[in-house]
Amino acid sequence: MSDAPARDFIRQIIDNDVSSGKHGGAVVTRFPPEPNGFLHIGHAKSICLNFAVAAEFGGSTYLRFDDTNPGKESEEFVAAIKADVRWLGFDWQDHLTHSSDYFDQLYAAAETLIGKGVAYVDSLSAEEIREYRGTLTQAGKDSPYRDRSVEENFDMFRRMRAGEFADGEHVLRAKIDMASGNINLRDPALYRIRHISHQHTGDKWCIYPMYDFAHGLSDAFEGITHSLCTLEFADHRPLYDWLLEQVDTPHRPQQIEFSRLNLAYALTSKRKLNQLVEEGVVSGWDDPRLASLAGMRRRGYPPAAIRDFCQRIGVTKKENIIEMAVLENSIRENLGEASERRMAVMKPLKIVLTNYAADITEQLTAQNHPGRPELGTREVPFGREIYVERDDFMEDAPRKFFRLKPGGEVRLRYAYIIRCDEVIKDDAGEVIELRCSYDPDTRSGTGTSDRKVKGTIHWVSAEHAIAAEVRLYDRLFKVPDPGSVDDVLTALNPNSLEIVSARIEPALGDATGGVTYQFERVGYFCTDSEDHTQGSPVWNRIVTLRDGWAKIEKQALQGQ
Ligand code: ATP
Ligand code: MG
Repeated sequence: MSDAPARDFIRQIIDNDVSSGKHGGAVVTRFPPEPNGFLHIGHAKSICLNFAVAAEFGGSTYLRFDDTNPGKESEEFVAAIKADVRWLGFDWQDHLTHSSDYFDQLYAAAETLIGKGVAYVDSLSAEEIREYRGTLTQAGKDSPYRDRSVEENFDMFRRMRAGEFADGEHVLRAKIDMASGNINLRDPALYRIRHISHQHTGDKWCIYPMYDFAHGLSDAFEGITHSLCTLEFADHRPLYDWLLEQVDTPHRPQQIEFSRLNLAYALTSKRKLNQLVEEGVVSGWDDPRLASLAGMRRRGYPPAAIRDFCQRIGVTKKENIIEMAVLENSIRENLGEASERRMAVMKPLKIVLTNYAADITEQLTAQNHPGRPELGTREVPFGREIYVERDDFMEDAPRKFFRLKPGGEVRLRYAYIIRCDEVIKDDAGEVIELRCSYDPDTRSGTGTSDRKVKGTIHWVSAEHAIAAEVRLYDRLFKVPDPGSVDDVLTALNPNSLEIVSARIEPALGDATGGVTYQFERVGYFCTDSEDHTQGSPVWNRIVTLRDGWAKIEKQALQGQ
């Protein structure tokens, strides 16, 4: 994050506006979520852009809840969104607003339009309005109510507000052009009747403004200079500008569109995420497999890594799909630097060191971070019985398998070289234990022998290790674009969560939330913020190691 952000096209526009003195040189942006769900990684792109751009120009950013659709919105979502924006590292200071704060002003603006003869109350049904609208290739036609007099429109609109009509009986529409090539300009609805209480305004209103009407005007009321939104709103910009001009707002914000963030194998739609939560496919909005910010937080993604990712993908007008690897690389880079190393065995296989005394525990010294000596060392207990990864043993191993195999040798990280002498199986033929012997002269660092072997594996002491539930996450979907699948439930990866009974080194016993570790050769992990307790540890795998293998084997060859 230390590099100055590139001058993307939005920053270039703002550079020009500031130097030409447009908006008095001010830069004010906003992030306007609808509180109808939790935020996802797509929103992170918008949050990072809006807050970063304003900060770079010494401006400010509003967090504005676009709460014009009561039925679907809730205070729970408002609270979750605030928590997520804060967690991402941004501060709206005292710029917290709601579209509903402006309901009086919006109503007044609607009356202004009626007074000018550019808005009318339509009494067609929703279905008729749809029919009259026409299609992309066919002009629409005028509603029979389009020529109501200004007086009649005032009277009808005031009665709409007074609650004299049922939902859907009438709507207020802008009077623009039913033959426009842009469907957004074919007399768009501005206000609709909804007899439903609002989480902020209670029962004060039974008519609510439409998104396009509320959005641009709220921008104007707040003095937003650059209203940054995603490309699908480009076709709405003529309406945005039309409304500002007709209402004749003193301040004229400028809408600029950029391409959405689409992340492969992830869902970035609140509506579809909501479906997964409602149907119990995931454990909640903070399920660590979701691309929701709450899920990513619980998974252990550092907010700085998400900000870094958003900066790397940049801001353009070109639609594309970002590979998950790009996000994971930002996560790994951050965690690789920040996380201390520990040893933990995901799928334990017991080893008895037959020539090691039963009643001895040695304390071996392990580095906490190979690249950051200032993080020091710790002691790791070693004894006659240890666990290693089941996958680090192969009975019929290929020649180039440099880990444990019958008669084969391997180095135990920070400990000794051992040789596999005997394989113990149960009645079903499953390998349940290995009998090995250790070479006392090969202790890491202090051994007298300079014997080298090609493989190094991690381990934990059977007597001292802590049993822990570890949740290994994989992608939630088996297709790259789950958003385009009709029934998203058919696209689920049945193996997105594997729960293992792991053994982790005793130094992890008092690990607390928010601290991440690299389990050597395995990946990055943190305790689960919901389910972990010291008595019953639960860990999440944040991300796997990309090249854990290559590195460790190289170190082994160099001798350590
Ligand atoms: P969803 O479909 O998930 O509900 P939305 O756009 O309807 O998304 P809003 O709450 O209206 O959700 O979004 C708030 C802001 O976040 C908008 O300015 C929107 O443009 C932006 N945004 C939403 N999704 C993305 C995305 N994938 N990439 C970049 N910005 C996004
Ligand atoms: Mg929306």
